[in-house]
Amino acid sequence: MSYRGRFAPSPTGQLHFGSLVAAVGSWLCARHAGGEWLLRVEDIDPPREVPGSAASILAALPAFGLVADAPVLFQSQRIAAYDAAFEQLRVAGQVFPCWCSRSELAGAGGIHRDGRCVALPQPGQAPAWRLRVPDITIAFDDALQGPQRQNLRGEVGDFVIRRVEGLYSYQLACVVDDAFQGITEVVRGQDLLDSTARQIWLQRCLGLPTPIYRHLPLVLDGEGRKLSKSEQAFPVDPADPLPALRRALAFLRVPAPAMAADAGDLLAQALANFEPADLPHCSGHSFA
Ligand code: GLU
Repeated sequence: MSYRGRFAPSPTGQLHFGSLVAAVGSWLCARHAGGEWLLRVEDIDPPREVPGSAASILAALPAFGLVADAPVLFQSQRIAAYDAAFEQLRVAGQVFPCWCSRSELAGAGGIHRDGRCVALPQPGQAPAWRLRVPDITIAFDDALQGPQRQNLRGEVGDFVIRRVEGLYSYQLACVVDDAFQGITEVVRGQDLLDSTARQIWLQRCLGLPTPIYRHLPLVLDGEGRKLSKSEQAFPVDPADPLPALRRALAFLRVPAPAMAADAGDLLAQALANFEPADLPHCSGHSFA
């Protein structure tokens, strides 16, 4: 099977340095493998969306030399596919409606483990839908972070796949679309390492393939926190792409040439020096 990678930004703000690192990292892995690199806009959470940010992210990427090999997939146009996956789980008895409030779950550390809702159904109030999680430990080898294990019942519990408002969760949409786009390797930030066991379990429930996972270190701010789009942190300037691109390559420890005609040329030269095995493991600041 030929390699397919992707970059899947949420439109919660402009492209920032942390997401540029994820975009460049996933692009380098795809091109190094002689594969394709796809784009997906994860616009399934209107309350968190910043108007105009999807267009601004999509306009910025080509300025950094990052051009997708297929038309962009918008999750807001994929609701029928999420409905079908949800229905598959419902018919198989793997999901249940849940009226438990956050405060009711607080006693159990916010984790729902009963496999059914223990609150009383609230007439007239839509439920959330949770995936029933067995006592199973999901083990996988992250291509960068090494062997991982997570006991789903102990560490995650029955998790929400459709929210009270009727919106599908990131976990469900991501799994359905990684399979739909034929993604063979997911390269993304380490903050999503913790979601991976849930996604692998959902793939098993839905009969979908599991890609390889490679979680990149995070760029941290001065206080050791992840740079976050929603905080409008560190936007990068598509009108002057080379400095940010050089910093992204330095963060990923990819040797870059001193001279480059433009962003595409800089990336092409960096690709010639790129070895996935040399990517750094640990999150940290960008000192370049
Ligand atoms: N949409 C997510 C984000 O912007 C990334 C999801 C993924 O790569 O699986 O953080």
